[in-house]
Amino acid sequence: MMLDNYIKIVLKSGKDQPVKRFHPWIFSGAIKKMYGSVSEGDLVTVYSNKDEFLGIGHYQIGSIAIRIVSFKEVVPNYGFWKNKIESAWNLRKNLGYTKNIKTNVFRLVHAEGDGMPGLIIDFYNGTAVMQMHSIGMYLIREELVKALQEVVGDKLKAIYNKSAKTLPFKSDVKSEDGYLYGEKSETEVLEYGLKFKVDWELGQKTGFFIDQRENRLLVQKYSENRDVLNMFCYTGGFSFYALKGGANSVHSVDSSGKAIDLTRENVELNFPEDTRHEAIVADGFEYLKDIEDKYDLIILDPPAFAKHRNTLPQALKGYKRINTRAFEQIRKGGILFTFSCSQVVSKERFREAVFSAAAISGRNVRILHQLNQPTDHPVNIYHPEGEYLKGLVLYVE
Ligand code: SAH
Repeated sequence: MMLDNYIKIVLKSGKDQPVKRFHPWIFSGAIKKMYGSVSEGDLVTVYSNKDEFLGIGHYQIGSIAIRIVSFKEVVPNYGFWKNKIESAWNLRKNLGYTKNIKTNVFRLVHAEGDGMPGLIIDFYNGTAVMQMHSIGMYLIREELVKALQEVVGDKLKAIYNKSAKTLPFKSDVKSEDGYLYGEKSETEVLEYGLKFKVDWELGQKTGFFIDQRENRLLVQKYSENRDVLNMFCYTGGFSFYALKGGANSVHSVDSSGKAIDLTRENVELNFPEDTRHEAIVADGFEYLKDIEDKYDLIILDPPAFAKHRNTLPQALKGYKRINTRAFEQIRKGGILFTFSCSQVVSKERFREAVFSAAAISGRNVRILHQLNQPTDHPVNIYHPEGEYLKGLVLYVE
């Protein structure tokens, strides 16, 4: 059959168990033998030691050697990819994202969560920003572009490829950022009616942290008459919801001057001349050393402290440190929103770090909410690592 055209890879005995449970990653150490020479990005077929077919996936040099795209004996042709894009779009459509006039920014493809390991597509009011994390996905970009055009139709104005920094830097394949379809258009998006200028060409990630949408809305609910610190603010997301919710004052802090400029620009768009807001360029660890009892609502949304397993202990220390400082200084009756977006930090480990920070501070702390990522970032039930965003809302007596 057609699958014979692909290089066959056989796994070591016992290493087939996770794949049989539909986990899409195969680590390099699980491979017993490769029948031929493969290039990065090639599709390969995977078999157990007993010669059972397990799946077909993209090969890459690295700790994750194969990302399975199908557990069935199918040839991943154009129709195959179009079906996947269609399924992702239909989910967002069913959830009400595609026709929402108050929120026109959402994640359209969430990698493993949508059965497309290595691919992120964020939709910004007509512009789809594609970020490929695997060579295999990068190599089929033209098919993905065509599928997006067919599935999304008139709503799609442009497609921007932003993979220069996310593809493995050691590989031979180099990607230049740029438009694969259309051209730069509207960069203003709406989230719950608030306006945001998004810079997908130069900004972090795909330009905006879409995943905090619902958690920002929750901040709005708790902000009335509070003095708010939005630490690690990036484009200011949480701050505008706090202003909308009736905060007394809002301080947005980030170490990036560019982020602070964007925050200021966004404040002007939504709350021109509002004197309640102040944006500050500062290092978070330093700033938190000395906040005394200035704030009674603090948001800590740091960057992923751990990008790899081996930096996990360091990351946990980082979470513990910033949370201890917040617990020690937040006003009596204060509310702390604290997050981790590191995929390698599990929900349990993050909790432990926050709990020990609370214990060190000696404050009486209660959990009000346990937060996660919104529905446009679905989690593949067989790939628990996809549940990367974790948050706690805590009441500090
Ligand atoms: N809360 C934001 C997303 C935060 S992303 C939102 O809702 O959109 C993490 C941010 O932390 C980035 O903007 C990055 O510039 C900033 N950052 C990284 N290291 C920092 C440090 N040591 N001190 C302050 N900010 C830092």
